[in-house]
Amino acid sequence: MAIGTALVTGATSGIGEAFTRLLADKGYDLILVARDESRLEERAASLTAKYGIKAEVLRADLTNFADCEIVEARLRSETSPISVLINNAGFGINKAFTVSEIKAETELLDVLVRAPMRFMHAVLPGMKVRNSGTIINVSSVAGWIAGGTYSAAKSYLTVISESLHTELSGTKVNVSALCPGFTRTEFHQRGRMKMGGLPKFMWLNADRVVADSWKAAQNGKAISVPGWQYAILSFITRFGPRPMIRKIGMNIRVKQRERAK
Ligand code: NAP
Repeated sequence: MAIGTALVTGATSGIGEAFTRLLADKGYDLILVARDESRLEERAASLTAKYGIKAEVLRADLTNFADCEIVEARLRSETSPISVLINNAGFGINKAFTVSEIKAETELLDVLVRAPMRFMHAVLPGMKVRNSGTIINVSSVAGWIAGGTYSAAKSYLTVISESLHTELSGTKVNVSALCPGFTRTEFHQRGRMKMGGLPKFMWLNADRVVADSWKAAQNGKAISVPGWQYAILSFITRFGPRPMIRKIGMNIRVKQRERAK
């Protein structure tokens, strides 16, 4: 008998995939959301075989309004309630705002901001009534620097998580933002970002990131920043002088683009 049902967006790879394994290991049934249906089916079959849980596939492109409505309807279900929501799906744009395509910028906001906001709005009333639930929003340390729409979107995710964490204090509903630094996933390859020059010690492991985040959420933390290196970096970017932070943000983005040429 499962201890509840968890819905994970971006469940096909990277951090989302690591969340599905952690949650299956804890005994949750799963709903796997992403665009690549065959990959989702493979993941579902392998999770069921390894952990003996039920895994359902919900193919959805989070830039598509109708697809999001289907996910929202599932999140509102009272007969089969969702106890954990992991808003994880995401991607990056490897171009300066002035030369990027407006479609890509808009889709970035759809996936990183609009969909998670709507999904939380759909699931939270039920969680409040049941006085139980966990929401983890996969944000980024990039939300504390000035790196285009991606940073601005992650900033939204961190702030809305903090707001809801405060609004729901005194209940047993946990809302927490996970703010990782560079993590080995498909993210940089998909975004055509060449990361060759990044020192080894700056890379995080997705399983470790996810384990830290889950523990932090269960302990009622509003934000988790896995890894000592990012604890230091995030302290500087959160509390350092903004002109310096703006420069750091721009340097990181320009370097990623130069390496990708
Ligand atoms: P990843 O391996 O590329 O995984 C991204 C996931 O998002 C995939 O499952 C992908 O599945 C899904 N996705 C992308 N666009 C989608 C769309 N339009 N609709 C539905 N699903 C979509 O990258 P990752 O690093 O694990 O990224 C997960 C989250 O971590 C993202 O929010 C990212 O911003 C954040 N993050 C990553 C890093 C890092 O260094 N890796 C650092 C900080 C934060 P499909 O292609 O099958 O749709």
